[in-house]
Amino acid sequence: MKKLEDLVDTYLHKGLRKKLVEILKEKGITDEQVLDAIHTIPRHYFLDSAFDKIAYEDRAFPIASEQTISQPYTVAYQTQLLQIKKGDKVLEIGTGSMYQTTILAALGAKVYTIERQKQLFEQTPTYLFKKQYPNIEFHFGDGFEGLPLLAPFDKILITAAAPKIPEKLWEQLKVSGKMVIPLDESEAAQRMLRLTKKRDGSVKREAFDTFSFVPMLEGKTQK
Ligand code: SAH
Repeated sequence: MKKLEDLVDTYLHKGLRKKLVEILKEKGITDEQVLDAIHTIPRHYFLDSAFDKIAYEDRAFPIASEQTISQPYTVAYQTQLLQIKKGDKVLEIGTGSMYQTTILAALGAKVYTIERQKQLFEQTPTYLFKKQYPNIEFHFGDGFEGLPLLAPFDKILITAAAPKIPEKLWEQLKVSGKMVIPLDESEAAQRMLRLTKKRDGSVKREAFDTFSFVPMLEGKTQK
């Protein structure tokens, strides 16, 4: 079990993070708050120590349960589209490594995150930034169901490839709320969409670039 006090964030790590922020800027990320959060949060803390030296490459890496920690560009891109304001109630589907969760918390959101892989969920009680970011609630379950008892949410973020727009999640979004969702366009690519709920309940749909995510699956695992 990793403990915050045992982890080291060296000048090398900090320097690599600074370079990563420059790369993200070159790729088109402009939101200063998002860039600041990427600059602040040590991504290597969320990865096995074998990845220590490469943690700041702009790539996805494997985590437990055959899942991945999203590429920093993807994390920055989705977060930027969400336009997080301090105090926003955000539902995240796919806790995974908890890295994206931490970026949302660092922006001042109240984060409710759901993971369907038991092995990944079982890591959440040892969350490294529990003291620094008490504004996160971890849930084990099927993200397609959302969290009806805690709804409605200002923002919903899906971090796995969705085969369709999950109806129950759409219902759990506030009026004027936004959902950022990578929706299957083909087997290998998802179109990033930002869906805004209009006053009359209808949807404003904005389409962005394509990405490649692990699939959003129904149900939850037993182990
Ligand atoms: N945000 C994570 C992304 C992990 S990959 C990170 O950057 O580390 C996507 C995650 O979504 C995986 O952990 C996968 O298990 C989870 N997932 C897939 N379908 C899900 C569902 N229906 N409900 C909750 N989590 C789901």
